[in-house]
Amino acid sequence: MNDIDADQLRVMMSAISEQISAQRDHLNKLDSALGDGDHGTGISTAFADAVEKLAALEAPTPADVLRTTAMSLMNRMGGASGALYGTLFLRASTPVKDKTALTLSDFVILLQAGLDGVKQRGQADVGGKTMIDALSPAVAALAQADKNNTALVDAFATAAQAAEDGAQSTIDMEAKYGRAKFTGERSVGHMDAGAASISILFAALRDYLQAHSNQE
Ligand code: ADP
Ligand code: MG
Repeated sequence: MNDIDADQLRVMMSAISEQISAQRDHLNKLDSALGDGDHGTGISTAFADAVEKLAALEAPTPADVLRTTAMSLMNRMGGASGALYGTLFLRASTPVKDKTALTLSDFVILLQAGLDGVKQRGQADVGGKTMIDALSPAVAALAQADKNNTALVDAFATAAQAAEDGAQSTIDMEAKYGRAKFTGERSVGHMDAGAASISILFAALRDYLQAHSNQE
């Protein structure tokens, strides 16, 4: 499998929804140490809504799938991260609006656009203990894999590893943005919930591609 069409992308969104929902309580727990404990509930509700809305789309393009997901995240997730996650998917949809299938290079471009959108919207950057600390290394790993002509399935495996390492790296960071900022030095020692959810998202994409990589 070297590219992903809209139907496959739709199933990938369901795969994300399933893994996020399985980790809902864990994400809430991470968010209670640094914030208000709602990250798991918000993101799992929003992805479940997206899966429902996606099922109703007739003959969507990959960009439609991303845009519909963005709407659910913006409308149903709430909080600071609802707008940020929504921005991630909405910005990701624009550079691929004329595509019927997405190659690894397309994924690099769309995720880079999404990452830039998140940074701009949240006025944040790497090192501040946010979702950016998982997303940015994942996008970089994917871009490197694309340069090396890596197969899609292997590229997403390295991206998922980079996202997980990035999420782990937030444990030692002091929070500079969002609610967690108010915990100051006390934020050190806890993983950021948004970085954790990004890492689950990439793990779901990796698992989907690994499960389908032998099928053409
Ligand atoms: P809220 O903080 O409004 O309750 P959530 O709990 O759903 O929203 O999400 C919190 C997550 O949002 C944090 O763990 C962090 O990763 C992310 N976040 C918060 N503020 C920013 C920001 N300015 N830039 C990027 N990510 C942020
Ligand atoms: Mg919260």
